[in-house]
Amino acid sequence: MDKGSETSAQARTTEGLGRTYDSVLDTIGNTPTIRINHLAPDGVELFVKAEAFNPGASVKDRLAVSIIEEAERDGTLKPGQTIIEATSGNTGIGLAMVCAAKGYPLVVTMAESFSVERRQLMRMLGAKVVLTPKALGGTGMYMKALELAEAHGWFWAGQFETAANAKIHANTTAREILADFDGRRLDTVVTGYGTGGTVAGLGRVLREARPDLKIVLSEPANAQLVGSGIPQERTASGGPAVGHPAFEAHPIQGWTPNFIPLVLQEAIDGGYYDELRPVAGADGMDWARQLAAKEGILTGVSGGSTFAIAMEVAKASDPGTTILAMLPDTGERYLSTPLFENLPTGMSDAEAEIAASTPGYQME
Ligand code: PMP
Repeated sequence: MDKGSETSAQARTTEGLGRTYDSVLDTIGNTPTIRINHLAPDGVELFVKAEAFNPGASVKDRLAVSIIEEAERDGTLKPGQTIIEATSGNTGIGLAMVCAAKGYPLVVTMAESFSVERRQLMRMLGAKVVLTPKALGGTGMYMKALELAEAHGWFWAGQFETAANAKIHANTTAREILADFDGRRLDTVVTGYGTGGTVAGLGRVLREARPDLKIVLSEPANAQLVGSGIPQERTASGGPAVGHPAFEAHPIQGWTPNFIPLVLQEAIDGGYYDELRPVAGADGMDWARQLAAKEGILTGVSGGSTFAIAMEVAKASDPGTTILAMLPDTGERYLSTPLFENLPTGMSDAEAEIAASTPGYQME
């Protein structure tokens, strides 16, 4: 019998958290690390850190609250000032949540190619979403945000350059991993990068606290910006001066913009990862589907892609090896994307057969 399907002898109970929260923002972080019971190769301990448990359902809630609160502390963000950011979605959703909770107006620029539910979620959370042409890619939405910020004197969130990004992952994500594996074996952590905040924050802390731990970084097989070894040309503020020549449009939303972010550059220069492994978007989608159907864990394409690499590492590992994969967000954020396209909206043959197996209530 699979480890996860053993019948429990006792009924489940819960105790409550024994506290109340003053704000939704206080529920960010402390996401659960969950064992993979059915998909892991025999003898290998495989875990995922499910960032979908954040209140805005992604890892970017951490970054969003960090950007706003660091800027409140150092005075660069004025009370009531409008905040602007270029984002493929999760950062925008996180920022919209934080801005709603703290009372700041938010404007988000986003390429039209990203999923429609992301726009609607931001609007639901009170933000304004300005779309930019697909053909201009990540640079287009970034340049539009910069233009608007300069023209209107808005606060530029700057997720790709801000020090508040890696800092929050060092202060929260990395500490949580250390606590969850305290006194236990942990051989490898697998993550991808969008801004690079996750890998930079993890690298800063885990390199020192657990020097034997391997960090595996992944990027899309058809957009190997880091793997190409070609340096990013930057402006004086560290932003991209031009798009990176190794970039190609890829299906792993939230990963690898068309430039190497300054935040990620710290991880590259500091040698924060031991291995760089490319992953095909199709494999990522396949593993996201398997995680959902075989483990009950809903994650997006980037989570599936991270998990694909974790499985690759797991299959080549000795028994007893322990691996952790970061799952940045929930699969529910991809309903309108290819992740869900192989699911019929009507009935499959198997479903029709079940329907026909009893006489009543049949579809015409
Ligand atoms: N996956 C998804 C779905 C994301 O939205 C992001 C953030 N853009 C990432 C992965 C990567 O995280 P980071 O920016 O910390 O590198």
